[in-house]
Amino acid sequence: MAGTATPMMQQYLALKKEAEGSLLFYRMGDFFELFFDDARVAANILDIALTSRGEHDGEPVAMCGVPVHAAEGYLARLIRSGQRVAIAEQVETPDEAKARAKAEGKPSSKVLVQRDIVRFVTAGTLTEEALLNPRSANLLTALAEVRGTIGIASIDISTGRMALEECAPAMLGAELARIGATEVVVPEDWTLGPDEPTFHSRGAFSSDAGADRLKSVHGVATLDGFGEFSRAMLAAAGGLIAYLDHVGRGTLPLMLPPVIRESASGMAMDEATRGSLEILESATGGRKGSLIAALDRCATGAGSRLLAEDLSAPLLNEGAIEDRLQVVEFWRSRPIERAELRDTLRALPDIGRALGRIVAGRGSPRDLGQVRDGLADAGRLYERLELERDRPALLNDLLPRLVGHGALVDHMARALVASPPTERSNGGYIADGYDASLDELREISGNARRAIAAMEARYRNETGISSLKIKHNGVLGYFIEVPSRHGDSLMDADSGFTHRQTMKGAVRFNSLSLHEEASRISEAGGRALAAEEAHFEELIEAVTGAREAIAATAGALARIDVSAGNAERASEGEWARPEITGEAALSVKGGRHPVVEAALTNSGDRFVANNCALATDDRLWLIGGPNMGGKSTFLRQNALIVLMAQAGCFVPAEAATIGLVDRLFSRVGASDNLARGRSTFMVEMVETAAILAQATTRSFVILDEVGRGTSTYDGLALAWAVVEAVHSRIACRCLFATHYHELARLAETCEALSLHHVRAREWKGDLVLLHELAEGPADRSYGLAVAKLAGVPKAVVKRAEQVLSKLEQARSETGGIAAGLGELPLFAAAAQDSEPEATPAEQLAQRLSDADLDALSPREALDLLYDLKRDL
Ligand code: ADP
Repeated sequence: MAGTATPMMQQYLALKKEAEGSLLFYRMGDFFELFFDDARVAANILDIALTSRGEHDGEPVAMCGVPVHAAEGYLARLIRSGQRVAIAEQVETPDEAKARAKAEGKPSSKVLVQRDIVRFVTAGTLTEEALLNPRSANLLTALAEVRGTIGIASIDISTGRMALEECAPAMLGAELARIGATEVVVPEDWTLGPDEPTFHSRGAFSSDAGADRLKSVHGVATLDGFGEFSRAMLAAAGGLIAYLDHVGRGTLPLMLPPVIRESASGMAMDEATRGSLEILESATGGRKGSLIAALDRCATGAGSRLLAEDLSAPLLNEGAIEDRLQVVEFWRSRPIERAELRDTLRALPDIGRALGRIVAGRGSPRDLGQVRDGLADAGRLYERLELERDRPALLNDLLPRLVGHGALVDHMARALVASPPTERSNGGYIADGYDASLDELREISGNARRAIAAMEARYRNETGISSLKIKHNGVLGYFIEVPSRHGDSLMDADSGFTHRQTMKGAVRFNSLSLHEEASRISEAGGRALAAEEAHFEELIEAVTGAREAIAATAGALARIDVSAGNAERASEGEWARPEITGEAALSVKGGRHPVVEAALTNSGDRFVANNCALATDDRLWLIGGPNMGGKSTFLRQNALIVLMAQAGCFVPAEAATIGLVDRLFSRVGASDNLARGRSTFMVEMVETAAILAQATTRSFVILDEVGRGTSTYDGLALAWAVVEAVHSRIACRCLFATHYHELARLAETCEALSLHHVRAREWKGDLVLLHELAEGPADRSYGLAVAKLAGVPKAVVKRAEQVLSKLEQARSETGGIAAGLGELPLFAAAAQDSEPEATPAEQLAQRLSDADLDALSPREALDLLYDLKRDL
């Protein structure tokens, strides 16, 4: 390949340019090959051998390849590690290429098979069953901005569900966090986030283009029937569809009519809250240890995906929540029917995703079979559910969506075999009796096959060679084979056999009658394949034509599955149906944390249930007590109970009354992990600022050790100010966990604040954590006892005890870190010690003398120095 590029290299380079930065999968026979840097990147990620092939510009060309039949698995790994892939297929056969060369007057040996990029594979545009997680949605989101408003268009192309919404730029982060797309497409010049979006040409993101594209996709003259879309929404939809068109090289995936999502219709949660509540993913990543993992008892993947959606977007409408709760209640009170329903659902194929592949032009006979079986099951389920009495309203709404496919199901039942194959190139998926001419073709090849079998017996007889066999392979077709020692006897011209191949140990022949029967098989086979192919196309068209009704059935099945799954979970754990009210109350009796409880139960421990009772006149609970005492767990379990209730689930408690929460905030103070640097404290403060700016009287806030990430003085001061603001300015329900005893003094001025603590007891010098919430302030911190409990060496604990007693001595002499609080204006009326206020220099000197230098790590000492210097 030295000097000028070979024709193949020229073709490759042209395609590579078209691939725009995606890895290029270049089809060569049974392999997809990658070259140059693509090969290096892929070989590294896939851990496959990197070889080389020829030279380009005097350099060896790096190459690696993956077999076509196993390509899906390799694609999955590349996509997961953040790559995009362009698939270049051979779009003509070598024979067609030769014919073309002949027509163009070129020597046929020089001609190259034509190749085109047939599609791009990206994280947000997958439909392959093997590449998708059945239990989570795979969303592609596009963003556009029109006059200061952001339009957001999202689609799960595996099921075609499309949602449009808009939000203010400041809320974009929270919205994206809720949506959780695997890929976000933005116009080229976009700067508003998220990190690492996919860029697409600016022109596509216009509201006119968006409206036109939506109209043409759905074949309507006006979009009025779908809803009133803003210009920002349409612009985002335009970008989304243009990108899908680009990625699918002109074949669009399944797209259902867009649904408007009112951002204000649900409970708002920002990214930090979602992260700290570990709703769909635990802090360490992955589903294990998340809320959904502890909750999900859905029988189908579609159910799990809908549950994830419910938990990501809890409702704010009392009626809609009640609707869901009623269906859960319905199934909970019918354990036998529920078990039967869940068995039926478990056997149900994923119709939504099969439909997605079919409409995207990548459907297989198996997908058709799945749609057929799923729709038939849905019809049977309808008949079964129709007999149930006292059906709740939501279930009644869902039932009609399960039916109406009778004709299509009948058609597919007649047309397809019982379990159609994934591969369609070998045929065999159209049922006998569906098409008389196909049956005839099959009979011809069947007869010919039988004739060949009979021929074998006859030839054995005639030749007297009992080891003679008639065999078939891909290269020779049918042939007669005898062991070498009999070969010569058949070589005679008048034996009726013609020699084809001499192998080690065997000789192969043909005969005229074998040849005739074999041609019959291959001719009939070819025609049968073409007939099956035509029926396949018809069936695809029939399913595509009914796509909206089929998707509605899939959606109704998923909703039924979620409600039955929630009922199952509720009975397992004796969970309660929450009572939803409009008042600013939050009352939970015997509440538990579903994830912690599950973990404890697994290890044979018992979870201690706790009550929570927030009301307008007692809306902020300040919770103290030792580390590891259960403060965080208590905070989170109450936030999760609110979230679950508003998502329409039962809750892990004996009883719960939930006053609707418009926004849920959860913040965890930056840990004092110095290795993570000071920026964690910055993050903590930014997040706290967001609460102070966005929370309303109807919000619920949990704050866990806020202020911990800085020096004691700053931390206490900030925690103090934040509690005051949440209590008096925002006046929302709040649980605040802290280890600052000094905050207890806030109870003197904040009338709706009360003090609580997690209980602990010292028992024979050891600490026993009771994980039980009690009223009143925590009396002491038990820090050293916790250290001992955690296995800190005895000598160290002893030394710490000495340090502590010295510190406590200093505290009692100076009034401790809260000494200055008596001077706060709020406390002006309260009688305080009349000790004169220390000057800043005196305070510094005091802090320096309070510090026990022997007890500080070098890093802490450095921090202390910084703190002192800053306060100078
Ligand atoms: P804190 O926030 O007070 O430091 P955590 O809430 O993190 O404490 O709880 C520490 C550990 O104690 C948890 O990991 C859990 O194992 C256990 N725990 C917490 N709450 C309970 C409870 N109510 N019942 C039983 N064990 C609990």
